[in-house]
Amino acid sequence: MASRTHLTDALVIGGGPSGLGLAAELAACGLSVRLVAPHPPRPFPATYGAWLDEVPAPVRPCLADVWTDVRAYTGEDPTPLLRPYAMFDNARLLDTLLTRAGPRLTWTVGMVQHAEQVGEGWEVTGAGGERWRARLVVDAGGHGGGVTRPVRPHGAALQTAFGLVARFDRPPGPPGGMVWMDYRAGHLPPDEVRAAPTFLYTMHLGGDRYLVEETSLIARPGLTRALLERRLHARLAAQGTPPREIETTEWVAFPMNTAAPAPGPVLAFGSAAGLVHPISGFQMVGALADAPGVACAVAGALDMHSPTQAVRAGWDALWPPERRAAREISLLDAEALLALPGDMLPAFFRAFFALPAAEWHAFLSPRTGAGAIARTMLKVFAHAPNRVRVPLARAALGQAEVSGRALRAAAGVG
Ligand SMILES: Cc1cc2nc3c(=O)[nH]c(=O)nc-3n(C[C@H](O)[C@H](O)[C@H](O)COP(=O)(O)OP(=O)(O)OC[C@H]3O[C@@H](n4cnc5c(N)ncnc54)[C@H](O)[C@@H]3O)c2cc1C
Repeated sequence: MASRTHLTDALVIGGGPSGLGLAAELAACGLSVRLVAPHPPRPFPATYGAWLDEVPAPVRPCLADVWTDVRAYTGEDPTPLLRPYAMFDNARLLDTLLTRAGPRLTWTVGMVQHAEQVGEGWEVTGAGGERWRARLVVDAGGHGGGVTRPVRPHGAALQTAFGLVARFDRPPGPPGGMVWMDYRAGHLPPDEVRAAPTFLYTMHLGGDRYLVEETSLIARPGLTRALLERRLHARLAAQGTPPREIETTEWVAFPMNTAAPAPGPVLAFGSAAGLVHPISGFQMVGALADAPGVACAVAGALDMHSPTQAVRAGWDALWPPERRAAREISLLDAEALLALPGDMLPAFFRAFFALPAAEWHAFLSPRTGAGAIARTMLKVFAHAPNRVRVPLARAALGQAEVSGRALRAAAGVG
């Protein structure tokens, strides 16, 4: 029988960037924090990219690379996106967050199985029978949640990608640059593209090394690894740029359409709290940017009120009403993208990137309000060709109630 541990202020489930990011900020606010993860501290395994202007200043020194030549291909000619893009050095990010956390953080290797409210605090049980006590619990257990269960309306719609880092005899993308999306698909039968659109995401890593990922932006059900791997090699062969020597491979699969969670007794954070953006799939820097405000709200309330009120303060900081309304509209947009035949996605994104930069930047940002999101979508609709408009309009009519709210938000009423 495992012994009960001392009481900490907060127990955070999950050692991903969201869990450690919030744990570090809670500790920096003076709380004692136990983080429980099935592994000891280790560099996060995924390749994390983000728009440079969205990377919070304290983690900017953790960037491995920044590209200023950033492009999209929605046809034969590139669209320069004129927005620098960055990739993280995950070992440096881990060190920075652990340093920020300092001695108030205890990292415990284990798997949380159950959390139960006992009086004003919590008893948390691990898969090995461990018992931990805390005044409040945060679930940063990733897309499936540790003890909370994220909700995906109409079932999960997934972003999937198969990627590799390799050495190439001929560059598979622009030397010195990165390609955010390349939807050119002349090498595939049109009906395959229509059914399952994918694009190439490329980063030049220096010398003859590139990261190349064949990506399905959003699909329900998600595309398989086998299909994406086959597509990647077919594309590289068609370009005349097959990899010479493969160093590593990466499989990406996560849900894009998580609803804003209802506030519960456990505070959820990161992908467990639905912070993945339903159109871009970005989450990581948004969570790191949210962490100080959420931690401050929790710590401030815990100082003056009960742990229950502190958790409520955390929920209010993370999901204020305006953000909830914006999420509802973004989910409608995601459904509209799912309804678009795949061969129309390039035309959709051509209209999207033709918007003033500030508008498409804001559309992809995690903190943009419902009105701005709805107005941007209406502009894309207005500029898109008819063959794109018809399925978009049909998708909007299929969710008439939310579409009505989106129109009122766009008009600045309601
Ligand atoms: C391969 C890949 C690439 C991605 N690339 C990007 C990108 O470039 N940019 C971007 O913004 N987003 C990206 N995403 C999406 C998203 O940002 C990531 O999934 C991100 O890792 C989510 O962070 P997180 O901390 O919320 O969850 P995770 O990183 O999934 O971490 C969850 C943690 O919780 C632990 N855990 C789960 N259950 C329990 C439990 N019961 N008890 C204890 N621990 C538990 C897990 O072991 C893990 O340590 C990517 C996703 C994947 C899969």
